[in-house]
Amino acid sequence: MPNMSMQKTPMPAQAPEVRNKNFDEVTLGYTPEMAVLEAQRCLQCKHRPCMKGCPVAVRIPEFIAKVAQGDFLAAYEIITSTNALPAVCGRVCPQENQCERECVRGIKGESVAIGRLERFVADYFMEYGTAASKRAEPNGIKVAVIGAGPAGLSCAGDLARRGFEVTVYEAIHKAGGVLVYGIPEFRLPKAIVEREIDSLRALGVKIETDMVIGRALSLDELGEMGYKAVFVGSGAGLPRFMGIEGEGLLGVYSANEFLTRINLMKAYKDEYDTPIIRSKSVAVIGGGNVAMDAARCAMRLGAERVYIVYRRGEEEIPARLEEIHHAKEEGIEFRLLTAPTRLLGDDQGWVRGMECVKMRLGEPDASGRRSPVEIPGSQYEMEVDSVIMAIGTSPNPLIRTTTEGLQADRRGCLIVNEEMATTKPGVYAGGDAVTGAATVILAMGAGKKAAESIANLLLPSPGSEENPA
Ligand code: FAD
Ligand code: SF4
Ligand code: SF4
Repeated sequence: MPNMSMQKTPMPAQAPEVRNKNFDEVTLGYTPEMAVLEAQRCLQCKHRPCMKGCPVAVRIPEFIAKVAQGDFLAAYEIITSTNALPAVCGRVCPQENQCERECVRGIKGESVAIGRLERFVADYFMEYGTAASKRAEPNGIKVAVIGAGPAGLSCAGDLARRGFEVTVYEAIHKAGGVLVYGIPEFRLPKAIVEREIDSLRALGVKIETDMVIGRALSLDELGEMGYKAVFVGSGAGLPRFMGIEGEGLLGVYSANEFLTRINLMKAYKDEYDTPIIRSKSVAVIGGGNVAMDAARCAMRLGAERVYIVYRRGEEEIPARLEEIHHAKEEGIEFRLLTAPTRLLGDDQGWVRGMECVKMRLGEPDASGRRSPVEIPGSQYEMEVDSVIMAIGTSPNPLIRTTTEGLQADRRGCLIVNEEMATTKPGVYAGGDAVTGAATVILAMGAGKKAAESIANLLLPSPGSEENPA
């Protein structure tokens, strides 16, 4: 029986006044009954419009049909035939701009909750499923992957499934990239990321941590070690600052540093001695997912007032809708059409306030969004004792500056062609290292595409002399 409800089946969540004081996951996931009910909203459209919105082409109607039948493990098989990290994507994909934006149920009412269903299926598998290794016969060909974020892991998983001997070199002590050091526990529990990475290890992927390529080993040395191709998925972890007066004051952080102390170094747990400043009044500059995460962490650390300060309006905020909604519910105050012009310090060198100016929206800029224009004479001061900059990141220059022949554009992003091949033969790249800060699923899509190109490069095609038909 189809479920013709116009609204998504609601997903249980912790109450805002409870969750804004803890780091446990905010949303609690569907029960099997809720998942079946939601799956029954899918119309099983023949032309599958939702799939066009998914960068890794998850076979959405097929997996949802299995959920509707209560065959959750079969649904998992379908999802994981194209998506290596479903529990992650179900939680953090900006579905409203991807698969769910194309869903026909969204024309009148709400789209099918594709992300929630994907998360349910992945969580169900973790609880009740057993991983079967889908590895092809080993082909003995070695490929190196630099960076264990979503781009590198997805590339590594796809190559391992095709029989390649894959080693991932990761700079820090833990695999996962932004999934472990950026996105907080309350949005993406780290145990889930670890279990998804374990399933890649079960495919034969080797992960070497604490290996900074460009320092411990050069990219050319990897070639000398017998790797026939290299994929660079080193992300965009270099924080940007505004270049305004006062950014050197104590109490001013980059969101990267703030979130790493919390996520990776567990500063919120008493048993860890990671230093973190517990502030009363915190301003987070920016309007993306990073800004929402930093603001919500600051609130959970006990701040009395937390502001999001963003120079455009509500419609232009780039963060996921759910994060904006959750941040507001948790008591974060939004100061929109506002830009900081100067940070003010006390006589000990600590930030004590921020001078801001009000903005209005002018003509659209190159990105198609209306550009913010200062309103003359609208300056005012905000009293804050911490400022967190979340205005974007760029790729770290280490790999490109230590590798001859690897070209980047003027933003420092590696240049690739349609096959994800860089300007250096045998070296491929994808994810934030190529696009600048983007999304998990775009990075994964790029990793998959590169895996395909590497396989085409290194495996003899059917009918060739090495592989006579
Ligand atoms: P990364 O995840 O950055 O991984 C790169 C890896 O390479 C890192 O582990 C790094 O340590 C390693 N590395 C770097 N240099 C070297 C080197 N020289 N040698 C070896 N290893 C190296 N996206 C969403 O879709 N939804 C969200 O809700 C969302 N929220 C976000 C919240 C935060 C706080 C942040 C920071 C980002 C968020 N994003 C979100 C963006 C998303 O996480 C990134 O687009 C995605 O992780 C990019 O994947 P990647 O594999 O290209 O890079
Ligand atoms: Fe949607 Fe992301 Fe799943 Fe694709 S991977 S179907 S975009 S939630
Ligand atoms: Fe189902 Fe929506 Fe996809 Fe149609 S577009 S198959 S209703 S998820």
